[in-house]
Amino acid sequence: MIVSQANSSGARPWLDPAATPQVRIEGVSKSFGATTAVAAVNLGIYKGEMFALVGASGCGKTTLLRMLAGFAEPSSGRILIDGVDMGSVPPHERPVNMMFQSYALFPHMSVADNVAYGLRRLPLAREERQRRVREALEMVQLGALGARRPHQLSGGQRQRVALARALIRRPKLLLLDEPLSALDKKLREQTQFELMDLQHELGITFIVVTHDQDEAMALATRIAVMDRGHVAQVGTPAEIYEFPCSRFVADFVGTTNLFEGTVCACAEGLVSVRCAETGGELLVDHAGSFAPGQQVWISLRPEKVRLAKEPSNGARMNQLRGTVWELGYLGNRSTYQIKTTSGKLVTVFAQNERRTSEALIDWNDEVFVSWSADAAVVLQS
Ligand code: ATP
Repeated sequence: MIVSQANSSGARPWLDPAATPQVRIEGVSKSFGATTAVAAVNLGIYKGEMFALVGASGCGKTTLLRMLAGFAEPSSGRILIDGVDMGSVPPHERPVNMMFQSYALFPHMSVADNVAYGLRRLPLAREERQRRVREALEMVQLGALGARRPHQLSGGQRQRVALARALIRRPKLLLLDEPLSALDKKLREQTQFELMDLQHELGITFIVVTHDQDEAMALATRIAVMDRGHVAQVGTPAEIYEFPCSRFVADFVGTTNLFEGTVCACAEGLVSVRCAETGGELLVDHAGSFAPGQQVWISLRPEKVRLAKEPSNGARMNQLRGTVWELGYLGNRSTYQIKTTSGKLVTVFAQNERRTSEALIDWNDEVFVSWSADAAVVLQS
């Protein structure tokens, strides 16, 4: 999984208590009859962020985006952009633009006219309008294709026309609903990087809705994971992935092994959990404190597990014995399902470091899965 460069190299205004978010979503809810689509959401998004909203279908991502754009009104709460309450500001007067999933290009218009459509409400002289269109097309590397019609473009080029049209008025905030979902996998990955470069260059705040967690991880400065209208967790991609706050987040973002158990001891940053599923105790590093008897779950990412035919030695290690139950060869790595002696299935991702036509660990092999105490996290819900 690629993790966005923006997290390591960019500024992190959300860590600065003196920084004010550019977009403030304060206690925003939206109901449609008996359905609560968005429930008391609070979010602060900073200037220049590439902020991703992820979550299962129907969790309220699009509804939140539509409220930011002004296409839907909150049932309660308010949205502020640069300190201005958007409550009474109509969509076309907001410093916001939205790029739709379908791109919504006009088939009968040229690429240049499609982009110029983004300026339709501005009283501009013809030359100025043409200059801005040229500039916008060059920004997305389509300077030479202004005379074509959308059907004469590739999927990636159509996406860039939609982007140029959405950006031509230089909004403070660009909302993107599944911006890359119409592209195939390779093109999507390439376009992700183009989108990141463009956003970085323009310094405009982007809020991206995506159902693709890999895309969110690759693109975003921060991610909000939504669950049934609520924000379950907000954090950088690495925080969300490595330190999920609940089973829901751990399971939704990436793949994880969950072990249910009860705390038997907690001292010196180490929690010992009795786990009926594995028939023993598991050790996990943890900064917080837990009461003996407390019910917890351990989340262990498959790439953090060592798989070997010999047992591993070492302090603060966990080890289970099992047999290879399933094996999937994916080229760069293999996915194993190990059935432990207690019957629990553990998923392991093993990097295929060497070229070989045969798996070094194969179906039905007897193996040991092991991981250190700092490889997993303890969750309370
Ligand atoms: P997806 O990923 O499938 O697009 P989403 O997370 O964007 O889903 P929303 O489109 O925001 O979800 O919908 C949230 C909930 O609100 C859903 O239960 C949906 O059925 C409901 N909903 C959305 N718009 C309306 C509407 N206009 N009238 C009634 N219910 C609606």
